[in-house]
Amino acid sequence: TYLWRFNLLNMITGEIKNRIDGSLNPIIFVGLISLVIASIISYSYAKRIINTLHRIKSFFKKTATGNLNVKIDAAILKRNDEFSEIASAALSMQKSLRSMVELDGLTNLLNRRTGEQKLRSTYLSSDDAEVPFTIVMADIDYFKSINDTYGHHNGDVVLQNSAGLLKKHTSHKGYAIRWGGEEFMLVFENHTLEETLTCLEQLQAEIREFVHAIEETEIYVTMTFGVACDGTLEIEELIELADHKLYEGKSAGRNCIVS
Ligand code: GH3
Ligand code: MG
Ligand code: MG
Repeated sequence: TYLWRFNLLNMITGEIKNRIDGSLNPIIFVGLISLVIASIISYSYAKRIINTLHRIKSFFKKTATGNLNVKIDAAILKRNDEFSEIASAALSMQKSLRSMVELDGLTNLLNRRTGEQKLRSTYLSSDDAEVPFTIVMADIDYFKSINDTYGHHNGDVVLQNSAGLLKKHTSHKGYAIRWGGEEFMLVFENHTLEETLTCLEQLQAEIREFVHAIEETEIYVTMTFGVACDGTLEIEELIELADHKLYEGKSAGRNCIVS
């Protein structure tokens, strides 16, 4: 009886063990498969995150070396997460840096350093262009007396207003540079001398008629323009020529365009 009971117990234990094994095997299998799938998903997700971080890092590295034209991957900006926020903040930072480096703080025109670089590239690309470019040296007449009469601060306001008009009349045609003090260079790209003179006549009239409202006083200013357009000259010679024409205009009584 004892042996029979022992055998029966063994049989039952064996059966239970088999059943447990039978039901555990698929669970272990499914568990392992899930683990492998989860690992693959985590790996590819982590790889994508690291890749995005690398691209953001590369943007900052190039910016740090002074390259303010570097582009950020459009795909990062399209994401809807912290990375796109970092990327758009980085772009805003780049924009602010570019303004600080390239623009004149008072007038918002190109500063001389950036203007000269841009002029050089206009000059180089004009070799292939059919229509030449024209440069203009422009200077506010008797500006010192505005400072002396109304103060430096109001002089600044006149400068800002005048710069606004220069910008307006060069936009889509070229660009305006604050060359120094109350002197500006205007570059008319793909503009013949005649076309530039037509633009300048309109600009000159608007400058003359513009009312600078200062401390309940209305002041008017005029500008003198020296124009140079000559495809045979080196860039320095062209600037010198425009300068010379401006000087002629000043000597001839100001408020005029000399070409
Ligand atoms: P001209 O008709 O011959 O050009 O005479 P002008 O008085 O305009 O020229 P001048 O060179 O004698 O004087 C220029 C003045 O511009 C002197 C300088 O103090 C002033 N100036 C230069 N930069 C600035 C500036 O950023 N703000 C102000 N308010 N004045 C400036
Ligand atoms: Mg002047
Ligand atoms: Mg001057």
